[in-house]
Amino acid sequence: MELRLTDEAKTAIDMLSGRGFEAYVVGGFVRDAVMGRQSSDCDIATNALPEQIQEVFSGFRVLPTGLRHGTVTVLTERPVEITTYRVDGSYGDGRHPDAVSFTKSITEDLARRDFTVNALAYNPYSGLVDPFGGIEDIRRGLLRTVGSPEKRFSEDKLRIMRGVRFCSQLGFTAEPETACAMKRLAPGLSAVSAERKYSELKKTLMGPGVLAALTAFPQVICAVVPELAPCVGFEQHSRYHDFDVYTHICRAVAFAPQDEALRLAALLHDIDKPARFTLDARGGHFYGHPASGSSKARQILGRLRADNATADRVAFLILHHDDKLPQSRADVKRLLRANGELLFPLLSLMEADAAAKKTDRAVPPHIDEVRRLAQDIIRSGECFSLSGLAVNGDDMKALGYRGREIGDCLESLLDMVIEGFPNEREQLLQQALNKRL
Ligand code: ATP
Ligand code: MG
Repeated sequence: MELRLTDEAKTAIDMLSGRGFEAYVVGGFVRDAVMGRQSSDCDIATNALPEQIQEVFSGFRVLPTGLRHGTVTVLTERPVEITTYRVDGSYGDGRHPDAVSFTKSITEDLARRDFTVNALAYNPYSGLVDPFGGIEDIRRGLLRTVGSPEKRFSEDKLRIMRGVRFCSQLGFTAEPETACAMKRLAPGLSAVSAERKYSELKKTLMGPGVLAALTAFPQVICAVVPELAPCVGFEQHSRYHDFDVYTHICRAVAFAPQDEALRLAALLHDIDKPARFTLDARGGHFYGHPASGSSKARQILGRLRADNATADRVAFLILHHDDKLPQSRADVKRLLRANGELLFPLLSLMEADAAAKKTDRAVPPHIDEVRRLAQDIIRSGECFSLSGLAVNGDDMKALGYRGREIGDCLESLLDMVIEGFPNEREQLLQQALNKRL
């Protein structure tokens, strides 16, 4: 099998080979190349020792990224990570090897890698090195650990979440023993830093296989977001819902556009439903779950060290996901006034939520009608905000308004314009004057 390498990778391999060393592209890059996917980064493994790597690339800027683990980054046009073949020692903390030692064997280096599909190496001279059947697993769409799943997941708990992420990203199914160990050892994810969990969670949510991955591994997802646990299997007792809360959530994530904040919002939008559940003759209700869910989501995202902009967006989307949508043009302008451009992701979340409720994925058409109206209002430049009003604060001051009155008057003029009053300067000034008298 011949694989296309990036120029940087080719150069790096040739420079190391030229000095008598062995060098391969390894891991995710090879997996992605075999699958015809674009790779995010390029890793090279070599039998050269770190000092020897630095010497070979002395003409380049070289960063000693992880010298202790044998990794240096060579700053070619795109950075390439070059790591000395190594074997990992014992894992004391459930995440990092206590010590690493270098080896002369690419096969030994591949054996420390997490999954067979990631334990591949390639160079144009020797071709593929595939000691654990990674190519066959790619062909069959199977995620399988290199060696005993129990042992490999116990060594480094992050691998459990990486496993869910690869199922989602690659559309793979975990091989039964691997899947079983992931579920059983999921609680161990508490040993992993919030940043790493959050990063894997986001990649999981964005993958094309997210529905199957989330559905297959509730234990793992709930180890990252324990607040989701009550949702698993929670019956809604509602004729509007065919699915339990967790299954509904998984479907909403999959039906939402591939935007990080939107998918996080979909994951967390119904998180407080179990706590808000009431039952009467008409069925199950979840009064107040958007507001309480929104603040719960904020706590969760804070704990996961999400950036503030994302947390704000997600909290907003959840708070409003169940709002009633209006019909009239004036009402849609009010929505734009209140929400600005966030109205559009909100409508997308509402559609994903609706599609996720019933087996037939029916979406009420009025959500799209609101979207079209909002787009039309923006396109035709109609006024829906103070900044679009034909008068401003200085005009109000000139008419004698002071302090809070200025804003209040502008707001009431905006109300009138939204109701259909012409957004004309002279007419608005006259109105403002009348109000003052
Ligand atoms: P992506 O770049 O899309 O995140 P990747 O498979 O390339 O996916 P990286 O984190 O870039 O993942 O790691 C590169 C390679 O290093 C992996 O393919 C795998 O062989 C190995 N690896 C990474 N993290 C681990 C881990 N926690 N345990 C064992 N091997 C790992
Ligand atoms: Mg990678």
